[in-house]
Amino acid sequence: MSTPTIAIIGSGPSGCFMAQALRREWPDAEITLLERLPVPYGLVRYGVAPDHPGTKAVTRQFERMFEREKIRFLGNVHVGTELPLADLRAAYDIVVVATGLYGDRKLGVPGDALNHIYGAGQITRFLNDHPDEEAFLPRFGTRPIIVGNGNVAIDVLRLLVKKGEEFHGSDLSHEALTHLASSPIEHIDVVGRSPAALAKFDTVMIKELAKLANVQFEFNDELDLESIEDPLAKAKIEALLGLARAKIETLLALARSEAEPYTSKKSVTFHFGWAPVRVAGVDHVAGLVLKGTQNPEHQQSIPATSIITAIGFEERPELDLCRTDLSRPDSDLSNGFLDDGLYCTGWFRRGPTGTIPDNRADAKHVADNIVQAVKSGALGLGKPGYPAIAEAIKSTTVCYEDWKRIDTAELKNAPYGRARRKFRNKVAMLGAAQSHQAGENNK
Ligand SMILES: Cc1cc2nc3c(=O)[nH]c(=O)nc-3n(C[C@H](O)[C@H](O)[C@H](O)COP(=O)(O)OP(=O)(O)OC[C@H]3O[C@@H](n4cnc5c(N)ncnc54)[C@H](O)[C@@H]3O)c2cc1C
Repeated sequence: MSTPTIAIIGSGPSGCFMAQALRREWPDAEITLLERLPVPYGLVRYGVAPDHPGTKAVTRQFERMFEREKIRFLGNVHVGTELPLADLRAAYDIVVVATGLYGDRKLGVPGDALNHIYGAGQITRFLNDHPDEEAFLPRFGTRPIIVGNGNVAIDVLRLLVKKGEEFHGSDLSHEALTHLASSPIEHIDVVGRSPAALAKFDTVMIKELAKLANVQFEFNDELDLESIEDPLAKAKIEALLGLARAKIETLLALARSEAEPYTSKKSVTFHFGWAPVRVAGVDHVAGLVLKGTQNPEHQQSIPATSIITAIGFEERPELDLCRTDLSRPDSDLSNGFLDDGLYCTGWFRRGPTGTIPDNRADAKHVADNIVQAVKSGALGLGKPGYPAIAEAIKSTTVCYEDWKRIDTAELKNAPYGRARRKFRNKVAMLGAAQSHQAGENNK
């Protein structure tokens, strides 16, 4: 049986895991990973918190894949604009969409279009130097509110309250750090719909907060440990109580002169069991009106200078490849099947839930279905692959070796104490990618 030609759109975790899974089945197949940016790895590079280098280390296994498994990286090709999807499908037997979900979900209440409301996706792209945010400078003011109680909300909270030296070892954007250092943030309210015991964040994320210096944590409600039986929920509440204890211990140590006096004076209040009703303000945010999710007759209003929404991600129909446009009546999303020879995986398939490892299982599941379709003869083979699109691509493409040149330059440019300094726009990335050519031309 001949081997298929395979194109995967998107080089985030799900695209990379898909390439790994299909390579295992077809050691000689042409597999090309197309990426709209000149650099690979999607949200691992541009979403995962810059102070979590251990999580970002998953890229090492993807590097090995590119280096040892003959997977072609084709960066700086936006499928849908620079290369029509129809052309890609005409060239490849199998096309897998792994483009993730980019858009920040909106609050969906009156006032949610006021100025100084930012999505957590945009904020984390800014903190990670994503080229789309090169010109973006958020204005947090003294009292931002974070809406959401998942891990992304806690990531944003931690990154906003940390001090400069606490970012040692991270690859936090140099420009973002400078911006944060001069930001006037004094107090952050974190608002979530669920009661504390059901909040979505992981306990380990709260324990990490407890280690931060100079931040005081408070809760709008009593945290009642006695009434909870579920061990996971109990652990969550204990971790939150640990935050409150950390504050008391710091105050006691301060009284005994064993601790540095507060220098940043940042404080954080968690509000569990509240949902936004309306954003107050004219032109820009002035506050957030909330109602109790357990007691809807309860209302409160919190003053705010900005709002960061961390309530999930969604398609942007006018800008991205979208499931509804690519589906037909017999599409079977549960198996990643969209159309003949067209499949999907990762956040694009499942929606914005799941961690990096979840995408490995997802890719494996969809890859199994692709293999079955090929073996059963349901999917015809014989399309030429890369040679059929090479001419059509007008942008300057970036291959894996080019990416490694970008990578090396970024590592070399790392400011003192930090792991790397990323290029902040595509022109600079492409310049680094082609730096060897400049050297050769000068010989
Ligand atoms: C802020 C944030 C923090 C997170 N932190 C963690 C964490 O600490 N640990 C953890 O396990 N998980 C974390 N996650 C979840 C994890 O990032 C996701 O599970 C994972 O990235 C989803 O992978 P994906 O490949 O489906 O999408 P993505 O990672 O978004 O990758 C999609 C890729 O497709 C590219 N692309 C998009 N459109 C096109 C196009 N038209 N043509 C070509 N390329 C295109 C994009 O540029 C991108 O590179 C976090 C998520 C977010 C948003």
